[in-house]
Amino acid sequence: MPSRKFADGEVVMGRWPGSVLYYEVQVTSYDDVAHLYTVKYKDGTELALKESDIRSQSSFKHRKSQSSSSSPSRRSSSRSRSRSRSPGRPAKGRRRSASQSREHKDDKKKTIQETSLALLVLVLFAGKPSENNTKRYNGEPESTEKNDTSCIMLEQKLKPDLEIKRVLEQYSLRSRKDDKKKEEIYSEKKTFMAVKPIEKVPTKTKELEFGGRIGTFMLIFFLPATVFYLLLMCKQDDPSLLNFPPLPALESLWDGRVFGVFLLWFFLQAVFYLLPVGKVVEGLPLSNGRKLQYRINGFYAFILTAAAIGVLLYLQVELHYLYDHFMQFAVSAAAFSLALSIYLYVRSLKAPEEELAPGGNSGYFIYDFFTGHELNPRIGSFDLKYFCELRPGLIGWVVINLAMLLAEMKIHNLSVPSLSMILVNSFQLLYVVDALWNEEAILTTMDITHDGFGFMLAFGDLVWVPFVYSLQAFYLVGHPITITWPVAAAITALNCVGYYIFRSANSQKNNFRRNPADPKLANLKFIPTATGKGLLVTGWWGFVRHPNYLGDIIMALAWSLPCGFNHILPYFYVIYFICLLVHREARDEHHCKQKYGLAWERYCQRVPYRIFPYIY
Ligand code: NDP
Repeated sequence: MPSRKFADGEVVMGRWPGSVLYYEVQVTSYDDVAHLYTVKYKDGTELALKESDIRSQSSFKHRKSQSSSSSPSRRSSSRSRSRSRSPGRPAKGRRRSASQSREHKDDKKKTIQETSLALLVLVLFAGKPSENNTKRYNGEPESTEKNDTSCIMLEQKLKPDLEIKRVLEQYSLRSRKDDKKKEEIYSEKKTFMAVKPIEKVPTKTKELEFGGRIGTFMLIFFLPATVFYLLLMCKQDDPSLLNFPPLPALESLWDGRVFGVFLLWFFLQAVFYLLPVGKVVEGLPLSNGRKLQYRINGFYAFILTAAAIGVLLYLQVELHYLYDHFMQFAVSAAAFSLALSIYLYVRSLKAPEEELAPGGNSGYFIYDFFTGHELNPRIGSFDLKYFCELRPGLIGWVVINLAMLLAEMKIHNLSVPSLSMILVNSFQLLYVVDALWNEEAILTTMDITHDGFGFMLAFGDLVWVPFVYSLQAFYLVGHPITITWPVAAAITALNCVGYYIFRSANSQKNNFRRNPADPKLANLKFIPTATGKGLLVTGWWGFVRHPNYLGDIIMALAWSLPCGFNHILPYFYVIYFICLLVHREARDEHHCKQKYGLAWERYCQRVPYRIFPYIY
């Protein structure tokens, strides 16, 4: 008994998925295992169809001459429809009156619209039609949460983001009130299908964040002021909140030598970044469909830096120079980040529209300067934002921590560092090493995909991260705390819990975004969205909507606890971090709602808590 009914090369009638229309197609191959035919439509589209969705031409012609109601493609409405057209193929047939002809034209247009809609639905909800997908095309009930990753395969083939956008722009996709059958077919999909959520090529940013022009103007002064306030406070014997530190003399803030050391550090990291070691990967598609390439060698840069520091220590170079000139280093980094931001803004004025950041193209100088006008500023293949995100500041942070540890030992004449200092150094070292080890994951974060590179990130990466995140270690040098081993063990356990949540949530999402077909993710369910990407609803992302933030906040608490409870200053990080992530979460929700429309709302219904289960 033949296992297949149609031979390769045979011209047959194939049902257009998601519709009741049949078109002339040619069989190109057959999958014995999946029992699916690959067929080619006249417009070149290739799809896999079940045998039940294919008819021989003769049987189809025979049916056509039969009662109209018996054919699946005939509808009860008065309009008739040619079933033997491939999309766009002109109708042949009898002559019509002018009104009939007009009606026919309308009909034809609608057929094309429906076909496009069907293509859209196909691209959005499936790919290589599997049993599930075929059911969906046929309007049969099916669970809307899937762990079927086949959609991504076809998605890659058809470049759906652009394709969908083109189709959406070309055709007005409205639900047809008069078309009940169609409504039935799409009723389930409409839950997820929003006509708007496709990300457009960046135009003007209309919704301003961070308090708009006034807010961003103030932040440009407020952020550096906060850093200097915190560092000055930390140097005081009594760093109570209301014990304001005296302002230092201006000339004491600047030291050319310190600035030279900072520049040396920055350019050394740039050299490490340029080394041709480590794999090269592609980032997520940009709005024009292009993918940028990134070299993943942050961990190598860290190893080389560690070796360089080792050599310096061997040569008895005093690393606590950093501690002694901490404020001057912060001023140098701030001056450099300001100069870098000005350069970034000036060069962004010449950048093509499509290379501007979705969130930093308001047309207001201050706003765009702050949030970053250009999405991925590059000098040749040197990606300035990507480099600054993980190298000079992040690696600088652990070097500063080490300098604080050495300073503590020297100042307090210790043969070994305090337990508190060891915990702070170890926890934060783990965090930095993790970020560098999983460097690739940064390519799917908001910083890379949405935010431009301007003052916010330049200052954040080069000043805020290294000088504020090392506050606990800096604090411990001047305010030693003794903690017991059981307390240290409890804090370590807390950090491990936070790290576990943080890492597994980030990896789960990152792996899912990179390769949804990964067998390791087969047990996860997701909601399909109109962009072709899915939203995970089980695993960590079904627990809360930002499990990675939850883990990060737990770790932040663990970093502050070794500093004891004498002052609130070392808890600045965890307080600020909760505010940052709550705000960031709101921004991300807003973007996701725009991107995914109803699918996002459905996700929010399914996963009601944002960061803290049963609290927020
Ligand atoms: P996330 O890694 O949380 O990414 C958010 C994006 O994930 C969304 O825009 C969406 O993007 C995607 N997403 C959301 N929900 C789902 C879902 N259910 N299924 C699949 N994808 C989903 O963004 P961040 O860049 O804010 O954070 C990255 C990490 O960096 C976090 O661990 C955070 O804690 C940490 N971080 C640390 C900071 C620090 O200073 N230490 C500062 C900021 C962040 P899409 O659908 O387009 O893929």
